[in-house]
Amino acid sequence: MNAINFPYLEKTSEYKPNKNGNNGNNGKVNARHEAIESAVKGILTNIGENPEREGLLKTPDRIARMYDELTAGYNIDPVKMINGALFHVDYDEMVIVKDIEFYSLCEHHMLPFYGHAHVAYIPDGKVIGLSKIPRIVDMFARRLQVQERMTKQIADFIKETIQPKGVAVVVDGVHMCSMMRGVKKASASMVTSTVLDAFRNNPKTRAEFMQHISGRKSID
Ligand code: ZN
Repeated sequence: MNAINFPYLEKTSEYKPNKNGNNGNNGKVNARHEAIESAVKGILTNIGENPEREGLLKTPDRIARMYDELTAGYNIDPVKMINGALFHVDYDEMVIVKDIEFYSLCEHHMLPFYGHAHVAYIPDGKVIGLSKIPRIVDMFARRLQVQERMTKQIADFIKETIQPKGVAVVVDGVHMCSMMRGVKKASASMVTSTVLDAFRNNPKTRAEFMQHISGRKSID
């Protein structure tokens, strides 16, 4: 089969912060930032730090702004993001976009987990612009997550949007919360997958996808 492998082209996000926050609604953004800043000051004080010392003075403000970016996925309008980038084609071979870098935060500890997502689908008369798949991954990564749910959300969203014959998503992530805490297993990575329709029903299709993503063994 002739699968198309789209390289990962660009790290994209719809999120464009302005000077005051993320959505032009400055009053609301300022109130939200102030609430986060005072919470961060509380954490600093309660771990035995002095929030007034020079190095920490701007930390609450930095963290408040940082969360605008790291949780920008909550504010992305999926319809606007797809922006009509759906095209009718006669092509019905597997489309694979692999090695999509992602960065997320685990919802249990709010610590980073990150790695790569690999996405495949078999079109049923419709394909999506190739830059959109990394954006879809970003939309679900940039929020508080668990890797299993993120994997399924990406697959479900593609299924809903393109209505293909099948979708498969494999996510490979390392989790700071397990690396930095407790028994340290620094190399432990976690692989999650969601396979729908043609990929679920046909072991050959599934095996072909797994082969394409770095010679990994089949997941059946
Ligand atoms: Zn965690």
